[in-house]
Amino acid sequence: MTGAPNVLTDIRPCIKCGYNLLGLEISGKCPECATPVERSLRGDLLAYSDATYLRALLRGVTLIMAGILLVILNFVLGITLMALIGPGATILAGIIGMLASGVSIYGYYLYSSPDPGQLGNNRGEQPRQIVRIMLVVSVVAAITQFALMLIGNRGAGITMGAAAGIDWMQILASAIGGIAWIIQFFAVMLYTRWLAPRIPSERIFKRAKLLMWLGPLLCVFFLCFIAPLIAMIMYYNMFSWIRKDLIALIKGAEPPSIAAMQY
Ligand SMILES: [Zn+2]
Repeated sequence: MTGAPNVLTDIRPCIKCGYNLLGLEISGKCPECATPVERSLRGDLLAYSDATYLRALLRGVTLIMAGILLVILNFVLGITLMALIGPGATILAGIIGMLASGVSIYGYYLYSSPDPGQLGNNRGEQPRQIVRIMLVVSVVAAITQFALMLIGNRGAGITMGAAAGIDWMQILASAIGGIAWIIQFFAVMLYTRWLAPRIPSERIFKRAKLLMWLGPLLCVFFLCFIAPLIAMIMYYNMFSWIRKDLIALIKGAEPPSIAAMQY
């Protein structure tokens, strides 16, 4: 101990307002916005985030992964049962499909939880909000489709004109749901690219960046089932990496060095 005051000797911006903290006491506060100086020195790492927030992200990621597995199971099971028991299989497929949607919608909802300790110029906030808005649109579209299906099935009492109207509304609802899902995919990728340096994980960042264009490209070849399956496995892998890192962070592991990483 030299007895010298514990002040910042290099140029460091305030994490909230960008004020230059050079020469200020580390135990002090930013003179512009009153954020503790120490908070700005710790940076944005998830290791310093609230454990409740991290557990919400972990639950979200786990449910997203369960949703992906259900979709794959449904696909494999659907083909097998279709061959064995015929059209009756579509009812079972419909039930598993609805379960998969419910699980993944709740998963993405938790994965896009706001961080109460998040400060500063937040690049992740916009994609995070878009994810949540698109979830609402998806749910409304799905409920509308389901309601229209019930009305349409009443059959006998419905005129030809009304039936055609219901058909068109169903097509519209399913189109809106599909568009919401596509927008949500890109928002989740942007949000994950923002989250990755906070973990910090270079491979998660690179995977999200890659899937942003490779995912849609692989899904264009949906008629050969292997390409979208590869996209889904790569997507699933990314979430399994996030899950592993979140578990380590919740257990209190030291964050790895970020010095060598490039984003
Ligand atoms: Zn400040």
